[in-house]
Amino acid sequence: MKSRIILKNKTDKRKNSGYLSLDLIPDPVIILASDGNIFDLNQSCCLLLKAKKSQLLNRNFKELKEFSGLWKKVEQAIFEKKENTERMSFDNRDFEVYILPFKTDNKAFPARIIFKDITNFLRLENELLKRNKELVIINSLSSAFISSENLDLVMEDLIDKVLLITDFHAGWILLQENDRLALKTSRGISSEGRQKIEEGALASLCADIMELRKPFSMIESDKIRKIPFLHDEGIVFLIVVPLVSEGSVTGLIFLAGNVGRAIDFEFTSLMTLVGSHAALIIDKIKLFLETKRLSITDALTGLYNIRYFYKTLDLEIARTNRYGNPFSLILFDIDNFKLLNDTYGHQAGDEALRELAQIFKSNSRETDAIVRYGGEEFIIILPNTPEEEAIPVANRIKNIVQAYNFQISNMEKVNITLSGGIASCTKNAGDAKSLLNAVDTALYAAKAAGKNTIRSYERPTR
Ligand code: GH3
Ligand code: MG
Ligand code: MG
Repeated sequence: MKSRIILKNKTDKRKNSGYLSLDLIPDPVIILASDGNIFDLNQSCCLLLKAKKSQLLNRNFKELKEFSGLWKKVEQAIFEKKENTERMSFDNRDFEVYILPFKTDNKAFPARIIFKDITNFLRLENELLKRNKELVIINSLSSAFISSENLDLVMEDLIDKVLLITDFHAGWILLQENDRLALKTSRGISSEGRQKIEEGALASLCADIMELRKPFSMIESDKIRKIPFLHDEGIVFLIVVPLVSEGSVTGLIFLAGNVGRAIDFEFTSLMTLVGSHAALIIDKIKLFLETKRLSITDALTGLYNIRYFYKTLDLEIARTNRYGNPFSLILFDIDNFKLLNDTYGHQAGDEALRELAQIFKSNSRETDAIVRYGGEEFIIILPNTPEEEAIPVANRIKNIVQAYNFQISNMEKVNITLSGGIASCTKNAGDAKSLLNAVDTALYAAKAAGKNTIRSYERPTR
């Protein structure tokens, strides 16, 4: 920083009109001789030091207790003839101090010292840093959303990120599911600890916290001691952050440490931020998964719909063509269903369809895809299943249905029967269209054989 102030070493020239008055400079300025004697200073500097100019002139800078911490740097700057800067706090304000040695006519190197008030700048800088940190947190939490195909994976990702951001060594997430809090994921605790949580060791604590509705709760150490498994896990510090969605608590994030932490403003805002964003992310993912589920689900029965069927069928055919594993289709059609509708009404018919869907669900494998194919037609895809294994499956379901009493209304129970056709890939066909033709033909054969029976596809003989 260059100044136009000229310092002469003759008698007092300060009042000479030829010199630029230091008072025109808004920042506090002091001009020192090389030994530290105050040669001149402006009004701002007097205000800063709360003294009159006459009281300060010709005193030595190093004797001013306000600036005692600065002298070393000033001395060094004058000695090295090199500019220097220093930060100092004074009177609740922050200053960047510029120490600027300069050359005079007699080759002495005194120094100008300018105090730049940077209080507002620092406050702004802190605010920016805080915002930046918040952005990093939000960004890193939101990236858990990327793996949103699977809620369990998202939870794992989320707890990892939360632990990283909050610097806790252990944590777990409980989510409200079917009126209970289910443990979704955990980090840093033993399998025994997990089991204790699953068995409800934290149930009363959770209930208390859900009542409280605070952005986060710190669990008192005597409460921690009363829950033995927490003690066994070495946990001495426990924070619970409720996940709030549309005014209700949908889950809890537990964050645990083996050392205590200060609950200061920064910690509080971090926990609040983590809680609100984790809740938002979980909400979005649930919505996304629900929308996705609905798009492949039949509304009446909750089974897969035809859209899902065609997609899965193509995948199974591709898999079979690639790896050679056969798969089968079973197509069921309710016998004389029109009669049931005509006798008991459409509502009763719908109820029978719903109950039938439950029977299908509870009598097939996890890997089977059960689809509502038409009004009262159902198709099951059995991956990795050749025809000879599909036949007993179809017969078992047919027999269970035959024996089942369908409660179609408060008053009535009825029995229904199924006819079923089976076709396998690649035994009967290698593409979707021919395979569907084959399974349809097989079902037709079952109907033709008197209903309540299962038929495999048979190639028509000439
Ligand atoms: P079949 O033994 O030959 O199969 O005789 P069916 O009476 O079952 O005849 P079909 O398979 O053609 O069944 C069609 C009947 O299924 C027509 C309709 O009354 C009934 N249906 C189809 N979709 C629904 C539905 O969503 N709800 C109800 N309640 N009935 C349906
Ligand atoms: Mg039909
Ligand atoms: Mg029918």
